[in-house]
Amino acid sequence: MEEANQKYQQKNTLYAYLLLDEQLRIISPNPAFTKFTNIPQDELEGFTLASCFKFNSKSLNRLSNLPSILTESFGLLKLTAYSPSMDQGSKIFRYRFLLIENGDQEEARYRLLLTKYSAMDNEFRPEVSDKHLFDLLLRELTDAIYFKDLKGRFFLTNQLHAQKYEFSYQDFIGKTDFDLFTDEHAAQAWADEQEIIRTGKPLSIEEKETHKDGSITWASTTKLPLFDESDNIVGTYGISKDITQIKEVERELRRTKKLLEEANASKDRFFSIVAHDLKSPFSAILGFTELFAEMMANKEYEEALKYSSVVHQAAKRSFLFINNLLDWASSQSGRIEFKPGNLLLKPLVKDVFSLLATQANAKEVKLKTNITQGFGVFADKDMLHAILRNLVSNAIKYSRADDEIFIRAAQKEQNIEISVSDTGIGIPADKIPILFQLGEEVRTPGTNKEQGTGLGLIVCKEFVEKHNGSLHVKSIQNKGSVFYFSLPMHS
Ligand code: ADP
Repeated sequence: MEEANQKYQQKNTLYAYLLLDEQLRIISPNPAFTKFTNIPQDELEGFTLASCFKFNSKSLNRLSNLPSILTESFGLLKLTAYSPSMDQGSKIFRYRFLLIENGDQEEARYRLLLTKYSAMDNEFRPEVSDKHLFDLLLRELTDAIYFKDLKGRFFLTNQLHAQKYEFSYQDFIGKTDFDLFTDEHAAQAWADEQEIIRTGKPLSIEEKETHKDGSITWASTTKLPLFDESDNIVGTYGISKDITQIKEVERELRRTKKLLEEANASKDRFFSIVAHDLKSPFSAILGFTELFAEMMANKEYEEALKYSSVVHQAAKRSFLFINNLLDWASSQSGRIEFKPGNLLLKPLVKDVFSLLATQANAKEVKLKTNITQGFGVFADKDMLHAILRNLVSNAIKYSRADDEIFIRAAQKEQNIEISVSDTGIGIPADKIPILFQLGEEVRTPGTNKEQGTGLGLIVCKEFVEKHNGSLHVKSIQNKGSVFYFSLPMHS
């Protein structure tokens, strides 16, 4: 014990050490104790522990029952207390005590070791009060801070918190989230707080915040239980950082990722189409032209004539295919310029019909339209031509003799709805949802076994979307199909 006494008598020790008598009166405090309490050593006589520190009622109770408490706790008691604020200016320090039984016979009944652990007091600290530091935090921090009581009523918030919601500080005080925000927002916050009060544990979450004007922001918030000086929970408090911009960047990243994935799928599709569709007609053209040359050499003109039309068909199909492929590839790489202008529908439809007349005549399919002189749209001429060409060409391809193909136009508010209908073989219901998806295989040979590329409708869809419209289809098997889309009206 003497050794311990000597150790704690040194000037610079961080621990205060003293002895206490039966009544907890202070005997032989060390210099650190005087420094801690600011009470000169010679004036300490007669002071009790309770007159130097502020204990909560639970600790006071324990101190007044010391002998039995110490017996229960093996002669050792840990306590926390605060310096009385009056003695230390505005500062309140928190201390930890270790009280040890010193033996029955001694005048010094107990030994006490204590240390400050609030770490507020150090030689590096400029002359600033805790209050000033706290005010600075509230005023300058770029995060929103609030304090609420147990009933969820705000009793302190910083300027930023109030400004964020375009309320004044006064608007907040005494109000709950239910008074200020939407029920959804308030109910979620209330549930979080009840959880924190129940468990005494902090919560870190991402929150959606609703504002007076209906706008929404996002915040990353840490909510904590608010303990008073006696370690009782008296409310909650939170600090939240605005992450709306981060959220937007995240959304943009996800969108870009999706676009990149789509672009990659387009590229894969492009190569697989080129590999398959362009190669096979060329093998036919090469094989047949070789045969053709042989037939000419052998003067088999009849046969040669027959094969020449096969070669012609294969070459025509490749040409149409290349056209579609180039349209599609250019639209994919953004190389097709979108140049909308005022257009009359009638001449355009006439042009498409005459282009496809041979195809239609060969199948005995009729091409009709209700479009009169007056219908005008605001669209890109080349794109609209490609859309109609593809839809009518498909309609012919999937029609039988005596079927009819109709291009109709009707005004719907400020738009013109155009439809291409046929009375052909129709599309099975399960294929409709994937008709316009790249990478999905929907390829039906035509009624004359015409082969397709599966690109036509995708090109149509992209071109319609460039006009901010959308392409839809309705179809019944064996009855026919209708493809329709809207374009803005002639201005
Ligand atoms: P393709 O070159 O294969 O015709 P499209 O993209 O133009 O490519 O059409 C894709 C598929 O949609 C076709 O293979 C066919 O199954 C179906 N389809 C398109 N238009 C019609 C139509 N008018 N009637 C029936 N089926 C159609």
